[in-house]
Amino acid sequence: MEISVLELGPFKARFIIRGASVALVNALRRIMISEVPCMAIDEVAIIENSSVLYDEILAHRLAMIPLTTPEDKYVPPSQCSCGGRGCSNCQARLYLDVRWDGEGERTVYSGDLKPEDPEVAPVYDNIPIVKLAQGQSLVLEAYATLGVGKEHAKWQPTAACAYKYMPVIAVDVDKCTGCGECAGSCPRQLLELSEGSVKVKRVEDCSLCMECEKACEPGALKVGWDESSFVFLVETTGTMKASTLVAKAARVLRSKAEEFVQKLGVEGAGWS
Ligand SMILES: [Zn+2]
Repeated sequence: MEISVLELGPFKARFIIRGASVALVNALRRIMISEVPCMAIDEVAIIENSSVLYDEILAHRLAMIPLTTPEDKYVPPSQCSCGGRGCSNCQARLYLDVRWDGEGERTVYSGDLKPEDPEVAPVYDNIPIVKLAQGQSLVLEAYATLGVGKEHAKWQPTAACAYKYMPVIAVDVDKCTGCGECAGSCPRQLLELSEGSVKVKRVEDCSLCMECEKACEPGALKVGWDESSFVFLVETTGTMKASTLVAKAARVLRSKAEEFVQKLGVEGAGWS
């Protein structure tokens, strides 16, 4: 298997995986979405709420705010020595205390949440929670825990996570007349004329729309894909770096494979 990185930002990664199967790449995708733990608010103690929103709706809105997840600092409550009751190893607290006595209304934002642990804080401080009118107040304590996306979408570290087959555009130079019709038809401008024939650039950006193939009168263009190569895109909600997410997903997959082999061994399948 060969991996080449096309783009790597803090929260976004795009790379090509060559020499892999759909099963493996799809397993990685599914693990990134639903089995890599991240922090999210799981419990809220409402102390004062005179806003227009019910406590339950507020709690739901708070849960959906992406929080930063420190690496290897917290354990999931189900695996904690406290037995899931909640302690500093499995829970991070955040406080919110906004009383509005000014003119007009005041929007309470995610930035108003004050984290006890600065490593578990809202990723963005401009997510609106509720609007308070004059005289209204909102005071609460929120508890964030580790969880996984298959339990609830609030624990999903990915905003976008998808792959596609690596496109392959083959040009038959003997048939190509250099008319340039294909270059003009490509909505992503991936084809260009050079030295009398067509050249393909950034083939990984091809959406397989087949417009070039349709526009090519002499039939010199063939659009297809490589079934063992994939263009993978992953973008996180900001809860962790994209590179951390990919590495963690690979670790989860490895531990699943190890567990599988171990169970086969125990049941006398003769594998090790
Ligand atoms: Zn605990």
